[in-house]
Amino acid sequence: MIRRTEDKVLTATQQATGTNENDLIYSFAKAHVIRASGLIALLMPQTLGVGVAVKTLEGGYLLVNQVMQTFFNKTAEQLNGRTDAELFPAEVAQQLQRSDHKIAAGAATCSDQLNFLHDGKQVECLWFKFPVHGPDGQLLFIGAAMLDTVRVGTIEALQQSLEHLQNTNQELQKSLVDLSQLASTDKLTGAWNRRRLEEALLKEMDRLRRYDHPLSMLILDIDFFKKINDDCGHSAGDQVLVKMAAVLESNLRASDSLTRWGGEEFVVLCPDTTLYTATVLAERLRQSIAKTVFPEVGQVTISLGVAECIKGETWEDWFKRADSALYRAKASGRNQAQIAPESSQAGGAGEDIAANFVRLSWHAAYESGNPVIDEQHRGLFEDANQLLGAVLSKRPHAEVAEMVNTLVRDVVQHFKDEEVIIQAAGYPRTKEHAAIHSRLVDKAVLMVKSFHDGNLTIGELFQFLAHDVVARHMLGADREFFPCLQCNVNPVAMSSAD
Ligand code: GH3
Ligand code: MG
Ligand code: MG
Repeated sequence: MIRRTEDKVLTATQQATGTNENDLIYSFAKAHVIRASGLIALLMPQTLGVGVAVKTLEGGYLLVNQVMQTFFNKTAEQLNGRTDAELFPAEVAQQLQRSDHKIAAGAATCSDQLNFLHDGKQVECLWFKFPVHGPDGQLLFIGAAMLDTVRVGTIEALQQSLEHLQNTNQELQKSLVDLSQLASTDKLTGAWNRRRLEEALLKEMDRLRRYDHPLSMLILDIDFFKKINDDCGHSAGDQVLVKMAAVLESNLRASDSLTRWGGEEFVVLCPDTTLYTATVLAERLRQSIAKTVFPEVGQVTISLGVAECIKGETWEDWFKRADSALYRAKASGRNQAQIAPESSQAGGAGEDIAANFVRLSWHAAYESGNPVIDEQHRGLFEDANQLLGAVLSKRPHAEVAEMVNTLVRDVVQHFKDEEVIIQAAGYPRTKEHAAIHSRLVDKAVLMVKSFHDGNLTIGELFQFLAHDVVARHMLGADREFFPCLQCNVNPVAMSSAD
């Protein structure tokens, strides 16, 4: 069954609330809380009696351990976001802020001996500040270690803790990298997960908005994957997913990204990529997968939807267009790519199919009722598809030129035969229809000449031949005589086309 867009687009509410362990890890990782909480858990055992806090660069307390809560006589929640100015007498707060500034300016450590009267009690403590860096060396937070010298009376514990910090720092950094990796990739395939994609999207859509950098996406879904699971077992299915991700990755540029969107569905995000280039990529991916042998399973095919982001559209709308194109690829027989129209409302059904194909696919609805015309129409679809295959796989110019000639020759022959058939069937507007043919042929001859002279790209020529001549004409003007043929099985017409 093909799932629809609606149940796949993650809503803002789902993102915000998060419902499972992955969501939780992700939201922590995103706020860099893992880094900071890891620091506390690893480095500051409660028994040492050392207060530990992690503050934002703006000076708000983010995390505090139990000793710190006791010191302030406030819960972690009450301390969250509070600054020293709100917690200490003004002079003390200023002293602490000065050391925060030194850490922010690059100091490796900073200490303050504080001595002040609080609620009628003398408070004496030592504060050490240190930078909390991310794996890339960037300053994320300010760490604070506090020793209540009245209560503990010695700085040995603090020194011990700081040495511990030093020794385990490397180990900590590695585990932080692993954790952030874990939070942004799919466990089975190593591809990005949805969250990582959604982060990248924001950046790329912004680049489109500001600098007009084109941005395209491919959605791809394995064909008949349920059957693979049923016939070969779930673990063979898993192996297909792993290998599939590897083959796809090997076909992408460094700037493209592969995301496992869910189940057996992947999204490829292609920055700086137009619709045309994304279509070429889609065809390359389709061919690579079709050629790959999957152990235990054999051949596997994929269907793809391609869409270029339109400036100003939302991610949801863009995704829907790509997903509808994927749906069409499935409905048109699978193992193919379809291109999304620029607007979900564009065109009527036939026009839509014609304007946005990667391959032209034949439908029973296109049958005229006359076997000769239908066979020729099907043949022209096939000619157009072969030409497209040659263009997309960058076959040599001479080979493509030969296919262009074949297509034009078949079109001309078909037009002639069709005119004889509809005339014999008594179609009253045969003359007008023949005039349309004649105009199309004239234009085709001119365009082919421009192509041979190097004045027209193969993309432009293909668009005209496949779109205007083959698909649009057959699904448009030709349909007017269909009723006439369907009540007229004409033996003269059949023999005239031989
Ligand atoms: P279609 O060509 O229409 O896409 O057919 P399909 O059989 O692929 O369709 P459908 O999307 O209904 O089936 C997807 C199947 O993928 C169903 C589910 O059991 C399977 N699946 C989803 N995630 C995994 C996974 O992680 N491992 C394995 N082995 N199977 C999975
Ligand atoms: Mg699916
Ligand atoms: Mg599928």
